[in-house]
Amino acid sequence: MSLVSLIVPSYNEEDNINNTVSELTGVMESTGEDYEIIFVNDGSKDRTYEAIKAASANNRHVKGLSFSRNFGKEAAIFAGLSAASGDACVVLDCDLQHPPKVIPDMLKLWHEGAEAVEGVKHSRGRESLLHKMFAGLFYGIMSKIIKIDMRATSDYKLLDRKVVDALLNLKETNTFFRALSFWVGFKSVKLEYDVEERKYGHSKWSVGSLFKYAINNATSFSTLPLQIVTFLGFFSIIAGGILGIQTLVKYFMGAAAEGFPTVILLELIIGGFIMLSLGIIGHYVGRIYEEVKGRPRYIISEHTDNLQGRF
Ligand code: UDP
Ligand code: MG
Repeated sequence: MSLVSLIVPSYNEEDNINNTVSELTGVMESTGEDYEIIFVNDGSKDRTYEAIKAASANNRHVKGLSFSRNFGKEAAIFAGLSAASGDACVVLDCDLQHPPKVIPDMLKLWHEGAEAVEGVKHSRGRESLLHKMFAGLFYGIMSKIIKIDMRATSDYKLLDRKVVDALLNLKETNTFFRALSFWVGFKSVKLEYDVEERKYGHSKWSVGSLFKYAINNATSFSTLPLQIVTFLGFFSIIAGGILGIQTLVKYFMGAAAEGFPTVILLELIIGGFIMLSLGIIGHYVGRIYEEVKGRPRYIISEHTDNLQGRF
């Protein structure tokens, strides 16, 4: 019998906690494994942590820790992983959009030798068209950049202790869990699941926050955008060369260069390229600034007694 840690990042999920505990307990009892359910309260503004504490008082498998403020889902996942003592960890959403009924299949694949079981969205559930298009575009580009097919991936995963330790050893503050678990390597298998509907509460993502998430993750994983700067520079030089030759040819044929609008247009294009490039470089400088400060990914303000000594 092995110990399995279930890690549940939770932000404003007071209505979900009890239901999630009973669903997860039901599934885990049927597997015959020992287990712990670690809720990470990510600075909720409602009574999420109170609900976690109450659940923990009734059920020794339930454990919880609470952040001093909202640090984001990525931080919550990493805090859960570092508090976990399981031989395997399963990360899943508190709203049960990641259906717990596939956990036994994940465990089976793990016992058969898989070191990471990657949950792959078979259907994306009910999402707006804009959300779907944006997700498709983002993961299409990310897949090209990191050379892993990210399109259907999610944060729903089972990771062996080896993988968890490798992830916890990564020093960066800005993490991208979904892709990092591929980056660290190990024997991984895919497992398809259908995204369920959220029963209580509502999603925390807006198109704006998704956009920010996409830019941050793309740049934390790749320096390709910086190469765009070089490309734009080359493009301008070549275009300038062609224009120069054309002007000279015209000059020798007796037609002087003319065209005030051309000058304005060129100024605008080149000015645009320069500002875009500075923006890209600036973004990376900002990221470096954030990383060199070496601030912790999260700050824990309290935890349930059964997590004593884990940090
Ligand atoms: N979450 C979190 N911190 C945040 C936002 C979300 O821990 O700042 C958790 C949330 O409680 C849930 C999971 O991340 O367990 C997924 O969030 P949500 O359901 O809002 O996202 P969606 O399913 O719409 O992608
Ligand atoms: Mg959700």
